[in-house]
Amino acid sequence: MTYMTHLECTKTGETFDPSELHNLSPAGVPLFPRYDLAAAKSKFTKVDVAAGPPTLWRYGPLLPIVDPANIVSLGEGFTPMLHATRLGTALGMERLLIKEEGLNPTGSFKARGLVMAVSRAKELGIETVVIPSAGNAAGAMSAYAAAAGMKAVVFMPRDTPSDFVFECKGLGAEVHLIDGLITDCGKMVAERKEREGWFDLSTFKEPYRVDGKKTMGYELAEQLGWRLPDVIIYPTGGGTGLVGMWKAFDEMEQLGWIDSQRPRMVSVQSEGCAPIIRAMEEGSEHARLWENAHTIASGLRVPGAVADFLILRAIRESGGTAVAVSDEAMLADSWEIARKEGVLPAPEGGATLSALKKLLDTGAINRDEEVILFNTGSAYKYQDNMPLD
Ligand SMILES: *Cc1c(COP(=O)(O)O)cnc(C)c1O
Repeated sequence: MTYMTHLECTKTGETFDPSELHNLSPAGVPLFPRYDLAAAKSKFTKVDVAAGPPTLWRYGPLLPIVDPANIVSLGEGFTPMLHATRLGTALGMERLLIKEEGLNPTGSFKARGLVMAVSRAKELGIETVVIPSAGNAAGAMSAYAAAAGMKAVVFMPRDTPSDFVFECKGLGAEVHLIDGLITDCGKMVAERKEREGWFDLSTFKEPYRVDGKKTMGYELAEQLGWRLPDVIIYPTGGGTGLVGMWKAFDEMEQLGWIDSQRPRMVSVQSEGCAPIIRAMEEGSEHARLWENAHTIASGLRVPGAVADFLILRAIRESGGTAVAVSDEAMLADSWEIARKEGVLPAPEGGATLSALKKLLDTGAINRDEEVILFNTGSAYKYQDNMPLD
C-alpha cells in the first residue's frame, strides 16, 4: 500500500488528485507526490525497510503505486555503496564512497525514475508512452514499457551514441532521431503528443519519476546506518536525482529516521553545457538556456531544465555549490575510476571525480570529510564518445 495522499504544485502549493493524469501543474512547474508521513511514521519503520526486497521497492509505502499488481520491476535500485579505497588513498581521503548506479537495469539510474513513471502510467490506463531523451532515459523507458506491454516512442538527438539507439530498438521502441538537442526533441514531443495519444514522460513533466529518483536518498542513508554524508557530488542534467534526494531527506526527517543535518549538494556539469553553474554565479532563481550545448556526457547535454529553480534551491539550502568540468578531465577521470576501483563509469560519473579534485584544491571540501561520488551510469553504451587513452 502507499501513503500517497495528493500531488502538490512546487510553486503555488495547489493540490491535485493523483488518480487523474497530470503533466506539469497549471503554473507550468513540476508536481510532487505527497504522503501522509505522520501516519507512516508509526506504521512503517526502519525494521520494515530492512525486511523488504533488495530493490527500491523496500521503500514501497513511500512510493506512489496504489496497487502492487501494477509494478513492473526489473530489479532496480539497492545498488552498491563502494568504499573507494585506492582512489581515496591517491587523494589522501579515507572516507570516499562511490554509489554505483551503473548496475541498474539498462545500466543507469534512469531505471529508478522510469520504473515509477511506467508503473504509474500502467495503473492509470496509459497505452503509449513517449520520451525525449539523451539516451539512458529512453533505454530505461523502452525496457519498462516492454515489460508493461505498452508501446514506447522515443525521440533522441541524431548524434546520440549508437548503442543507445540499438538498445531502444532492441527493446521494441519506435525510435525517432532528430537533428538537434534534447530540448528540440522535447518540442517535437509536445507538438505531436496530443494528436498521437502519447503520454509524455519527459523529466519532471510527469509527477512520478522524481519519486523513483528520491530512493537514492533513502538508500544512501540506509547504507550509511541511517545518517547522511558530508558531501554528495552529483552530475546534473534535468536534476531529478538531486531534487529527488533533497525531497527524500525532508521526508526521512519527518519520519524520524534522520536528524536535520544535511550533506552539501554539489552539482557537476560540463563546461560545454553549464546553465546551473552560471545561474549560481549570477545568483538567479532560474537558469538561462545554454546556447550550443556540447559534451561527451550525453546525460549532461541539457541546455535548460524545467526544474531549474528546484535544483538551485536544493544546492543553496544545502550550502553546496556547482562546478563545471572539461570533457578532457571527465574522460581522464573516468579511466582513473575504472583503473583504481574496477567500476567502468559513464563520463557523467567521471565528472564527479573531476569536480572533487577541483573542490579539494580550493579547500571547499576537506580531505577528512565523507564524500559520495555518484556514478549515475555505466560506460558500456558510450563507446562512440569515450576514446580509450
Ligand atoms: C540523465 C543522466 C544524468 C543527469 O541526471 P538528472 O537527474 O536528470 O540530472 C546523469 N548521468 C547519467 C548517466 C544520465 O543518464
